[in-house]
Amino acid sequence: MYGKIKEHLQKELADIKEAGLFKDERIISSPQGADIELTTGDGVLNFCANNYLGLSNHPRLVKAAKDTLDTHGFGMSSVRFICGAQDIHKELEKKIAEFFGTEDTILYAACFDANGGAFEPLFSKEDAIISDSLNHASIIDGVRLCKAQRFRYENANMEDLEAKLKEASETARFKIIVTDGVFSMDGNVAPLDKINELAKKYDALVMVDECHSAGVVGKTGRGVTELFNIRGEVDIITGTLGKAFGGGIGGFTTGRKEIIEMLRQRSRPYLFSNSLIPAAVGAGIEMFNMMSETSELQDKLHANSEYFISKMKEVGFDILPTESAICAVMLYDAKLSQDMAAKLLDEGIYVIGFYYPVVPKGKARIRVQLSAAHEKEHIDKAITAFTKVGKELGVIK
Ligand SMILES: *Cc1c(COP(=O)(O)O)cnc(C)c1O
Repeated sequence: MYGKIKEHLQKELADIKEAGLFKDERIISSPQGADIELTTGDGVLNFCANNYLGLSNHPRLVKAAKDTLDTHGFGMSSVRFICGAQDIHKELEKKIAEFFGTEDTILYAACFDANGGAFEPLFSKEDAIISDSLNHASIIDGVRLCKAQRFRYENANMEDLEAKLKEASETARFKIIVTDGVFSMDGNVAPLDKINELAKKYDALVMVDECHSAGVVGKTGRGVTELFNIRGEVDIITGTLGKAFGGGIGGFTTGRKEIIEMLRQRSRPYLFSNSLIPAAVGAGIEMFNMMSETSELQDKLHANSEYFISKMKEVGFDILPTESAICAVMLYDAKLSQDMAAKLLDEGIYVIGFYYPVVPKGKARIRVQLSAAHEKEHIDKAITAFTKVGKELGVIK
């Protein structure tokens, strides 16, 4: 009987709205890109997508997806281990391993599933998982599904990580350090070189979630292991095809071959959820072909990020240190972040203001995400709008 809970939900929803925490969606009527159209009829420049390489509507990926529909059909109607694997699924797994310099890869429907299914098959209550405090929700959930002991260290704080490693070493059979490669709210990179050294010193494995770093960080976009020159040394890498890598759908875990083999045997989101659709796989293969041809997109993305950040600092904005394509414009006040984002939208710049609980209390900000799809005039228009609105609201002089 839908009665009591209906009232309860209505009240909760009203409370969320009253607290100003209700998430409304703006609806896009064009393909995803730098220059998009909203259903309100407004054309805006998009600075809030994970479309880091501008591939979401790239003609080569659209064509590859269409071609694969013709050669491999629409759906798989099966999980992988029953009859859900095609030649192209194996080909994509191989390409991902080549890209990251790893031994083998397992595909998932999304990286949320890759992280959700990574821990429980490998670790049990004798073991310890040592996780960065700012790790993604899917890592947190994956750790919750596993019986291992949990340790949490302050974001990118190597002293705290070492303390937790010492503590875990007293009892744990196996230990694993888990971190995002790039932290999505600040844009900082995990100090993977130091994490790797500590892992050697304390005999721990290392797992990195490259969702915001793969395709983006490192000279050729191979991610944080390229940035720190430790390709092939990390035991487990997870990532998504839903951000820089085309923005479609699909997740993966890549790394040591015994680990991947065990995940194929025991990882629940892999065993009990449908195979990736062929069109997404075909586009994924073409995307990795593009990545191996040239790093022009990375060059453009890096130049765009540097240009935007240096100009924003020049006009007086408070920008968090970043080594990625994420730029946090600090405003501190929650309401200010919402007012500023609304005014920027009126100026044709689509960005989102984040505040508690997505970021810590008193640390509200606008997160700007740069893309290789942005041209210089797009970025200049954003800087002009930020400067105008920033002055109006007293954020800069
Ligand atoms: C986006 C993201 C995910 C989830 O990826 P999906 O493929 O969209 O499920 C996981 N981890 C991190 C760090 C992310 O940013």
